[in-house]
Parts: sequence; C-alpha cells; structure tokens
Amino acid sequence: VRLANLADRIVLVRDARAVDVQEASGGRLPSDPAAAFDRWDEVLASVPEIARGEARPFDPAALGPPSPRPRQVFALALNYAPHATEAGYTPPDWPLVFTKFPASITGPFRTVALPSARVDWEAELVVVIGRRAERVAEADAWHHVAGLTVGQDLSEREVQMRGTPPQFSLAKSYPGFGPTGPWLVTPDEFDDRDDVELTCRLNGEQVQLARTKEMIFSVPRTLAILSGVCPLLPGDLIFTGTPAGVGQRRTPPRFLRAGDELVTAVEGIGEIRQTFLAGRS
Ligand code: ZN
Repeated sequence: VRLANLADRIVLVRDARAVDVQEASGGRLPSDPAAAFDRWDEVLASVPEIARGEARPFDPAALGPPSPRPRQVFALALNYAPHATEAGYTPPDWPLVFTKFPASITGPFRTVALPSARVDWEAELVVVIGRRAERVAEADAWHHVAGLTVGQDLSEREVQMRGTPPQFSLAKSYPGFGPTGPWLVTPDEFDDRDDVELTCRLNGEQVQLARTKEMIFSVPRTLAILSGVCPLLPGDLIFTGTPAGVGQRRTPPRFLRAGDELVTAVEGIGEIRQTFLAGRS
C-alpha cells in the first residue's frame, strides 16, 4: 500500500494515479494526512474500500511530506560503519540521536535555498510510525511502523562544526532541509524490509550507495531503543542515518551549489529530488 500527501490530503497511490481517502470512504476517514496516522488501523482496514474510489492522474509537484506534522523527528548519526569511519569516529555501540526540528520537514520535489556554501547531502531511509510504541521489543517493532519513505538529511556543516563538541539538530533544520516522500510504502510491500538499496545522485553522478542491512542499528533495534526512552507517536519520523559518500568527507570536500540537482532513491519506494538556489529565501 502506498499512501501520499497530495496537496494536504491523504491519497492512495496506484499506477501513477491517486484516490482521495476521505472521498472514497464517504467522508468517514480524515482528509488531513497527519490526522490519518492517529487512525492508522482504520485507514489500513479501509484500503480495499478506498481502492474502489475514483483514481485520478496527479501532478507529482503537488506531493507533500507523507507525515506533514510529526510531533517528534528522530535522526541517527553514524549508523553505517563506513560513514562513521569517513567522519573520523569509531562506529557507535549505542545510537547517536539528534532531531531535525519539524519545521524543516518538506515534500519530495522542492527547491531549497542554500544558507551557505557548506550544505551537504545525506541520503536516508525514513521510518514513519503508525502505532504508538512504548518499550517495544525488537520482535514487535515493525508492527508499529506505518511505512517507509525516502528522506534527505540536508546538513549545514558550518553551524554543525562551529562549536566544541559539534552539534547536529540546528545545523540540519534550515527551511527545506528535511525533504521526505514521494509517499510511504507499508512494510508488507517489501521483499525484505530490512534490506533495501539506498542511493544518492548529484547531477547524475552516484555519490552514495548502500543497503539498509548494513545499518549498525536496524529499524527494529532502533525502535526498541528509542521507545525504551520515550513513546513513539503516530506520524513520528525516524531518519535512520546516512551511508558513506557525503560531500564534507571527500577530497577535496564538495558541497551543494546553486543549480545542483540531488536525487535520493530507495528500492521499492521511489525517489525524491531537490534543486538548489543560492541564498536564503
Ligand atoms: Zn543524517
């Protein structure tokens, strides 16, 4: 099942067409994608009924973030050993967690203003929570996931590295720095939900390539650890970390420039695409 946010309404996506969930449910289900997560079981149970609704072609540019108003956004740093190494760290034995403040979350196909000449890319698999999770066991963790989507953890390295020690959350929360989408795909759709390919291309050149089974903390392990500290709420996002190949760790370092096109893809989901403009807008 693929569910998307189309012009602030939740839709079921099939064969490049969209069915409006509220319309197809005769007004029973909400139109607001954020509200849908609080009734996730009902939404899923209604999929056969929704699928009989009118499917219309749509403009991908109108897609918004699958979860537009997450109450909490978790993000993992250094969750792939080769990236930890390129960043000069030992791979962690406990997740290194920060947040992208929710105002940074945007849709999949947007233009992003570059606040400096040191903005970097980080392709990531993003988990969307569908059922409240509190102290869940690893074996039950997937049950709490609404779906998976594609994300970019855009990062401004100057603010990140300005102090001692470095900080993550602020530097990763400029406007447009959390693009997600193009839709969420329910976990049952994947051949192996714990092992999907993640890629990032900059102006057509592949800069990152990994499989999510290479993550140090898998999705179930991450959910067990996070939910052991605080409840995970419907609509919450978890950016699961980026593999090796970010710009800052290249020789010479490479950062995003005005006019660049960044395409991030996850096998079984699709791709998101950002273009960049100079300066704040
Ligand atoms: Zn990241």
